[in-house]
Amino acid sequence: MKSLDEYLRDAEQAHGHLCAGQILGVRMAMLGLERLGIDDPQGADRKRLITFVEIDRCATDAVMVVTGCRLGKRALKFRDWGKVAATFVDVSSGRAVRIAAKESSKALAKQMHPEIPEKNRQQMLAYKEMRADDLFDVQWVTVELPPEEFPGFKGERIVCSQCGEGINFRREIVKNGKVLCRGCAGESYYVPLSRESRVTSRE
Ligand SMILES: [Zn+2]
Ligand SMILES: [Zn+2]
Repeated sequence: MKSLDEYLRDAEQAHGHLCAGQILGVRMAMLGLERLGIDDPQGADRKRLITFVEIDRCATDAVMVVTGCRLGKRALKFRDWGKVAATFVDVSSGRAVRIAAKESSKALAKQMHPEIPEKNRQQMLAYKEMRADDLFDVQWVTVELPPEEFPGFKGERIVCSQCGEGINFRREIVKNGKVLCRGCAGESYYVPLSRESRVTSRE
């Protein structure tokens, strides 16, 4: 594993700036890997780790930098809970640790550096110096991971009976005997307006 400063340099490059969230994310991921005994997440141990992140903010970019887990490799799972927290799963042992930023860390940062009025700079410095115990809650957990959650899962490709689009990884829903994608089953995040080309069945 690299040092905190080395990871912060990498994170700054990947994220575009250094911020309190980068420091939280880097330290969170380093602590998770340390607890799991994973030393080389980008090299020898790269297939051991699946990471769940619970927020789409700065800290998540930093977690990706340290762990090497990416959405496109299926090793990063996003749960939109709005929490600065992540769970690190060692798939070789089944052990998993969830690490959440403590709500009290903001107040502690203020106590540690009242001389810095600007919040982001105050938190950046304090989050670097703070003891891990003051910064994070650490919890051992179990995470149920069915085969379709693993990188490299090869499953049957299903076609939605309504829109004709293909669905991977068992994300289909069966409703009244019909195989549907989540959108057609009523979970859609968009409202269709018009379509430029018709989707044809891919069978
Ligand atoms: Zn940021
Ligand atoms: Zn559909």
